[in-house]
Amino acid sequence: MAYIEVKHEYKRYQMGETEIIANNDLSFTAEKGQLTVILGPSGAGKSTVLNILGGMDSPSEGEVIIDGVDIAKFSQRQLTEFRRHDIGFVFQFYNLIPNLTTKENVELAASIVEDALDATTVLEQVGLGHRLNNFPSQLSGGEQQRVALARALAKNPKLLLCDEPTGALDYETGKQVLKLLESACRENQKTVLIITHNAALAKMADRVIRINDAQVRAIEDNPTPLSID
Ligand code: ADP
Ligand code: ADP
Repeated sequence: MAYIEVKHEYKRYQMGETEIIANNDLSFTAEKGQLTVILGPSGAGKSTVLNILGGMDSPSEGEVIIDGVDIAKFSQRQLTEFRRHDIGFVFQFYNLIPNLTTKENVELAASIVEDALDATTVLEQVGLGHRLNNFPSQLSGGEQQRVALARALAKNPKLLLCDEPTGALDYETGKQVLKLLESACRENQKTVLIITHNAALAKMADRVIRINDAQVRAIEDNPTPLSID
C-alpha cells in the first residue's frame, strides 16, 4: 500500500459570496522511500494540499490516508498530535526561532517526541557540527535550511513535507539541501514530499504530480531519477 493515498480530495473556501475551490478532486499516491514532487504554478493549490497532509487543515471532502489511516476523519486534537509527532516540516523561509541556537532549535523540536534522535548527531549529519552554538542570524541561508532540515529529521518522522525548500537558496546551496532530502528517502526510507513551482526539481523526483488550477493534470513516474552530485 502507498504511504500516502489522497482520494477525491476537495478544499473549498468561502469568500463572502464567492466559493474558491483550491483543491478540486485531487487523487494521487506517494510511496515510502521515494521522493515525490508536486509541481505547479502559484495559486495551483499546492500549499492547500500540503497543509492538509500535514494536519494543519482539513479537506472539505475526500480521503487523506497516511500510513493506512484517514486523517480527514481526525478531530482537531488528533490532528494536533499527528502534526507534532508524525510529520517533519521544512519551509521555504526556514522558520527557525531567532533567539535559540542551532542546537536549541533542534532540541526543542525533538523534545516533543519520544523516539527523537540526538540533536548534535543529526546536526553533524547535515554538516553543521561546527555551528551548534550559533544563532540563525549568524548562518548563511543554506546553513539555516540545513538546521531546519535537521530539526525536522530529529523528530524521526516517517514523512517529511517540504514547502519550496530550495526557494530561498542559490543553485549550489539548494543542491546540498536536495541531496540531504534525497538521502533521507533513499537511505532512511522516509517518504519525502516537496511542493514547488521549480520544474528543475522534477528531474530528481521518483514521482512528479503536476497540478494546475486546483486539479491533477499528470502523474509521471521517473524510473531513473537524477542523482544529486
Ligand atoms: P499554491 O500553493 O499552489 O500557490 P494555494 O494552495 O496557496 O496555491 O492556493 C490555491 C488557491 O486557494 C488560490 O486561489 C488561493 O488564493 C486560495 N486560497 C488558499 N488559502 C485560502 C484561504 N485561507 N482562504 C481563501 N482562499 C484561499
Ligand atoms: P552562502 O553562500 O551559503 O549563502 P554566505 O556567503 O552567506 O554563504 O556565508 C558564508 C559563511 O559565512 C557561512 O559559513 C556562514 O556561516 C558565515 N556567516 C555568514 N554571516 C555570518 C555572521 N553574521 N556571523 C557569523 N558567520 C557568518
